[in-house]
Amino acid sequence: GPAPESDAEARAWLAKHGAKFGHFVNGAWTKPGATFDVIDPSTTDLLAKVTQGSTKDVDAAVAAARKAQRSWGKLSGHQRAKHLYALARMVQKHSRLFAVVESMDNGKSIRETRDLDIPLVARHFYHHAGWAQLFEQEFAGYGPVGVVGQIIPWNFPLLMLAWKVAPALAAGNTVVLKPAEFTPLSALLFAELAHEAGLPPGVLNIITGDGKTGAALVEHKDVDKIAFTGSTEVGKIIRRATAGSGKKLSLELGGKSPFIVYEDADLDAVVEGVVDAIWFNQGQVCCAGSRLLVQEGIHDRLIEKIRARMEKLRVGKPLDKAVDMGAIVAPEQLERITALVKQGADEGATMWQPSWSVPKKGCFYPPTLFTNVEPASTIAQVEIFGPVLVAMTFRTPEESVALANNTPYGLAASVWSENINLALDIAPKLKAGVVWINATNLFDAAAGFGGYRESGFGREGGREGMYEYCSRKSGVGSGKRTAT
Ligand code: NAD
Repeated sequence: GPAPESDAEARAWLAKHGAKFGHFVNGAWTKPGATFDVIDPSTTDLLAKVTQGSTKDVDAAVAAARKAQRSWGKLSGHQRAKHLYALARMVQKHSRLFAVVESMDNGKSIRETRDLDIPLVARHFYHHAGWAQLFEQEFAGYGPVGVVGQIIPWNFPLLMLAWKVAPALAAGNTVVLKPAEFTPLSALLFAELAHEAGLPPGVLNIITGDGKTGAALVEHKDVDKIAFTGSTEVGKIIRRATAGSGKKLSLELGGKSPFIVYEDADLDAVVEGVVDAIWFNQGQVCCAGSRLLVQEGIHDRLIEKIRARMEKLRVGKPLDKAVDMGAIVAPEQLERITALVKQGADEGATMWQPSWSVPKKGCFYPPTLFTNVEPASTIAQVEIFGPVLVAMTFRTPEESVALANNTPYGLAASVWSENINLALDIAPKLKAGVVWINATNLFDAAAGFGGYRESGFGREGGREGMYEYCSRKSGVGSGKRTAT
């Protein structure tokens, strides 16, 4: 196969910083404080040491963001647009470096970071440069919210940063962002290069650390809005912590999305869809099609085809251009997946894995398929957040809808049928923020993404996503949040 992608440029960037990082605040690096280790999950080798953000660090970042907001918020839309276009071009210029850093830090395959994550990041900044350009016309009477605290997960580190930072800056807010502790490197690289691309100091500040750092940001008195993507569990904590504070809030949380196959579906297309639904990014996707709901008559035939396809999937080193699946993000997550799969087998479902085995060293897990699954069992209800597909059957379209909606979540759904009347009849009955027909895991900067129920609220992308970062102009965003 092709030679692996070179990690030389990424290693040089790490070496330039002595593989040790402070925060990026007010356009400069802070001195590294108490640090934690960031590993390459495909080897478990140390990649870098990163600073655990203290309450004082968060204070300094929020103060920098507040100061910068006074001038950033006063720029005209087209002036902010210039900066957003510059960020989009910066991402394109350094796309290989970003892709390699992301693959090393997260473990996801270079094919995904190169062809999906990073291009989608650039697309997001271009799209929101357009909104900035038209801000005064399209959002007349609205201004920024002010200083925004953003907390993101580890599954799409740079893309989640883009989803949060691009609309915030377009609307005239300034940002303090905390990346996930497993994957802070691409956010630090982004902030450094954004500064070089001329983004004014204090407009984007990155504070690294774990949940305690995130909590300090959530509770900070001078933050006007919190935007969070992560687990439903932490989302609930943040909702309680912000209740009564006057802070604006948006939550993008977990899912257990159905992938529904009717008996007239094109089964070869379905099989490729399943690969994208649950083995893309090792299944660590909030809207992963993790529940395969199959009409009874085609169950055995489809499962046979899926198993044959699973035999051909390639799991291996993230920088190997030929692999389909890379590593799981961290040993903790690998353990969680392993325990849930064991529980599924213990509860009586039939577990199936390909005949080949995954690399011994590093956090690898094989694609896994469960059949004979009880709809009320743990693996049918809990978000596994790994490469594990859980199959169940239904007889009628009514039954498929009931089964699809039978979880506390409501993030995404995918419907497969050659009968467009059936697909269009089913789609609005599914409790999901997005329904794909004969497709899965498609994203675009112009389409608002978000959930219902325990998958959270608020939308990211498009016009709807912009409103999450806007407020009615009077008083708010022009200075202190408490101004009347
Ligand atoms: P997580 O909730 O454990 O962590 C997310 C972020 O929150 C991290 O940066 C973490 O440090 C921080 N955090 C943890 N405790 C906190 C606290 N008490 N206060 C403030 N911040 C805190 O989630 P994760 O394991 O990183 O990510 C996986 C989850 O994210 C999955 O449930 C997945 O479905 C969800 N997710 C959702 C979307 C979406 O758009 N809906 C997208 C990606 C991931």
